[in-house]
Amino acid sequence: MTTVWTQARRAARMNPSIIREILKVTEKPGILSMAGGLPSADTFPVEALKAACDHVLTHNPREALQYAASEGFAPLREWVAARVAALGMNVSPDQVLITSGSQQGLDLVGKILCDAGAPVAVETPTYLGALQAFTPYEPIFASLASDHEGPRPEALAALPHDAPGTRFAYLLPNYQNPTGRVMSAQRRVDVVEAARRAGVPIVEDNPYGDLWFDQPPPASLSSLWPEGSMYLGSFSKVLTPGFRLGYIVAPTELYPKLLQAKQAADLHTPGFNQRVVYEVVKSGFLDAHIPSIRARYKANRDAMAAALREHLPAGCEYQSPEGGMFFWIRLPQGLDAMALLPQAVDAGIAFVPGAAFYAHQADARTMRLSFVTLTPDLIAEGVATLGRVLHGALAVAAEHAP
Ligand code: PMP
Repeated sequence: MTTVWTQARRAARMNPSIIREILKVTEKPGILSMAGGLPSADTFPVEALKAACDHVLTHNPREALQYAASEGFAPLREWVAARVAALGMNVSPDQVLITSGSQQGLDLVGKILCDAGAPVAVETPTYLGALQAFTPYEPIFASLASDHEGPRPEALAALPHDAPGTRFAYLLPNYQNPTGRVMSAQRRVDVVEAARRAGVPIVEDNPYGDLWFDQPPPASLSSLWPEGSMYLGSFSKVLTPGFRLGYIVAPTELYPKLLQAKQAADLHTPGFNQRVVYEVVKSGFLDAHIPSIRARYKANRDAMAAALREHLPAGCEYQSPEGGMFFWIRLPQGLDAMALLPQAVDAGIAFVPGAAFYAHQADARTMRLSFVTLTPDLIAEGVATLGRVLHGALAVAAEHAP
């Protein structure tokens, strides 16, 4: 008998990431890509990592290469607990779960908190990878009305709390992917207060918080409501994404379930990676390293801001981000970012159309531009090309206008 595979309902809900599809195109030689969500590879501390690999393999080779605890490497968990204290969070290392990137953290959160048909609140727009992580668990997304500071408190206040209840609000207070926006101190207080009143816990995702340019962001949401929040952190943007290291700081009551989900997923995050990263960060390496990333990204942000001012047609809307990696542009009426992408790629540049980042009612006029993977000169060249594509498209739109 021939084998007939029947796929699970959740498999039918999985879609190829449009961003991955675009990145494939942009890997062609000669394309100036502002599409990637990658950190600049020039910031990876190769020598420090090499020395740490050597140290671990010399001093603790057998422990590093053996199976290890699902919770994570104890000294690294202690380091994380001390580090998030600087964000106003008073947590025990017992609340820290080391994950294989914060992307795995999102999957584990979805696994233990989502049910078919139960609402999950997300920002408008939000991180595409989170929509992908939660979707197989069949939530109903509630898109929170949002502005340049993030979600509006009244949108949180209006979330359903009748059964099955809104399971959580997924929030990105610092230099959000994709918009680059940051929540002000007052917005944080108002958002947390609204969530608390609505009885909706918060999952706070913060991979970009260290990448501020002029002043650090306000205190984390989790510091404002510890028992109602879960916090996701990552080493990807401050060290390297290649080691796949992230962490969840969870309320004590949820920790055992997350740990069971983690065990089922991959037993533990590679112990070798955890020990190497601990070896690098344990004596304050990041205190010198992160400022060098900030300086580089700030210079790139300035280069992109200047190029956008010079080349974008009137009617484009955007704000200059105060940290992170992205500009978010809203094109003039009549333009569709997805429809323009093939033309842009033909002209030698790439961006990510913003539509992919919406759970509902995508705004087809939006696009995300990364300013961290090209040099300032190439940013100027890439944005000049983008400007030409947009001016051309506007001229065509004007011809076809009634
Ligand atoms: N959250 C957000 C908002 C991100 O932008 C990313 C990476 N692009 C992640 C989570 C996942 O990061 P990682 O798994 O590398 O920690």
